[in-house]
Amino acid sequence: MSQPNIQLIRGFKDILPGETELWQQIERTAIALFEDFGYREIRIPIMEKTELFARSIGEDTDIVEKEMYTFADRKGDQLTLRPEATASICRSYIQHKMYAQDPVRKFYTIGPMFRRERPQKGRYRQFYQIDAEIFGVAAPYADVELIFLLRTLFERLNVTDTTAHVNSLGCPVCRPRFKEALSTLLAKAASSLCSDCLRRKDRNPLRVMDCKVPGCREAMKGAPAILDYLCDDCSSHFSTVTDMLTQLGVPFNVDKQLVRGLDYYTRTAFEIQTGALGAQSAVAGGGRYDGLVGSLGGPEVPAIGFAIGFDRLAEIVALNAPATIRPPDLYIAALGEPAKKLAFEWSAALGLKGIGAAMEYGGKSLKAQMKQANRAGAGRVLIVGESELESGMVALRNMADKTQKDIPVGVIVDTLIETFSKKEQSIG
Ligand code: ATP
Ligand code: MG
Repeated sequence: MSQPNIQLIRGFKDILPGETELWQQIERTAIALFEDFGYREIRIPIMEKTELFARSIGEDTDIVEKEMYTFADRKGDQLTLRPEATASICRSYIQHKMYAQDPVRKFYTIGPMFRRERPQKGRYRQFYQIDAEIFGVAAPYADVELIFLLRTLFERLNVTDTTAHVNSLGCPVCRPRFKEALSTLLAKAASSLCSDCLRRKDRNPLRVMDCKVPGCREAMKGAPAILDYLCDDCSSHFSTVTDMLTQLGVPFNVDKQLVRGLDYYTRTAFEIQTGALGAQSAVAGGGRYDGLVGSLGGPEVPAIGFAIGFDRLAEIVALNAPATIRPPDLYIAALGEPAKKLAFEWSAALGLKGIGAAMEYGGKSLKAQMKQANRAGAGRVLIVGESELESGMVALRNMADKTQKDIPVGVIVDTLIETFSKKEQSIG
C-alpha cells in the first residue's frame, strides 16, 4: 500500500508563484522607503536562547505562556523559534556594542516568525513580519517618524482603508498608580475573568486589557484610562506625538484601551487597523520600549519599533491588485536536435541581457510548442527548424499584430537585443 502524501505543518503555508510577485513588490516598496529614511537592514537568526524571549517579551504574556516553539536541542539547550524580531535586534545591538560610537541606529528586517496560535484566516503559526526599529532617540520625533512611515508605505501600496490607533502606556514612574487602579477594578470583576486573567490580574493587570476572551473584554469596559494617569513627562511626550502627527497629516485615533501583547512597551503604543480583514484587524503594531536594552544587560538606550504583519498586508494588497506574472519576452519554437541546441544557446545569451526567452526542452511538435507560447503569453515567437537552418533565415513572429520578419541566423542574438531595446524605449 502506498503511503499518504506528506502535508505541510498545520498553520504553516507555502507562498506560491503568483503570490510571490506581490510579496516581492511589497518588499521592494518597503525597502526603498526604509533606505530613503536612513534605515539599514539587519538579519538576525531564526532561533535564539529561550531566555531572551522569556526575559524581554515577559513571562505572563500569551506569547511566552502558550505560543512559543521551544525545545531542547541535542545537548539540552533550551531554544526557541523567534516569535518576533525586537528581542533579537536588541540582543544584537548589545552584543556588538552598536551603541559605542553613536547609540542612534535605525534598522529594518523582514522574515518569518513563529507562534503556536490557533490557525485561522490572517493567523498562522509561521508568519512574516516587516520590522523597523529606532535605537537611541528618546524624543517623540522617532515615534512620529515610524507611524508616518507606516502610513506612507500603506499609501504607496494603495492600502487606504487603515486607521492608526495610538495610546500611551506610561513609564515606571506613572504606571504603578494606574496598575493599582486597574487591580481594584479587576478584583471586583474577578468572577467574569478567564482563568489566565485571574492569574495575571495581580501580577500583571495590563495583560488583562489585551485579552481577547469576551468576558474579560466586557469587564474591561469600565476600566480606567492610562492616559488619565500619565506623569508630566509622559503626558508632554504624548501630546508632541499627536501634535506632530496632525501636522504631518497622518490621521489617527487616540485609543485609550490599546495595550500591546508584550511587556516591554513604555509610552507610545500604536496599532494600524483595517476593516479589510474581518476579525484579524491589526495589520501592524508597535511602540516604545525604553527600558528593554537596559534590562537585557545593555546601557540605558531608549528605543521604539514596529512590526507589520506581512501575510495580512499581502492579503489586503491582493484585494485591490491581483499579482501579475511576467510572461516570457520571447518563445523559441525549435524542431530537431541541432535547432534545439542553437535555440538553447540563444536563450542563454538573451537571458544574460535581461530578455526572457522560453523554450521547450523535450521533443514536442511545432503545434504543441505554439500552443505553449500562447499559453505563456509570449509577445514574440522565433521559429527554427531544419529548413530554417538550411536557408540560414529564421522567422520572428509578433504575436500581437501577427507580423513576421526574417532574420539571418548569424545575427539573431544581436538583432533580438536591438528589437527588445527599441520596444523598451517605445514603452518608456
Ligand atoms: P494580534 O492581536 O492579531 O494577535 P499581536 O498583537 O499578537 O496581533 P504583534 O506581536 O504586535 O501582534 O505583531 C505585529 C503584527 O504581526 C500584527 O499586527 C499582525 O499583523 C501580525 N501577526 C501577529 N501574529 C500573527 C499571526 N499568528 N499570523 C499572522 N500575522 C500575525
Ligand atoms: Mg497575538
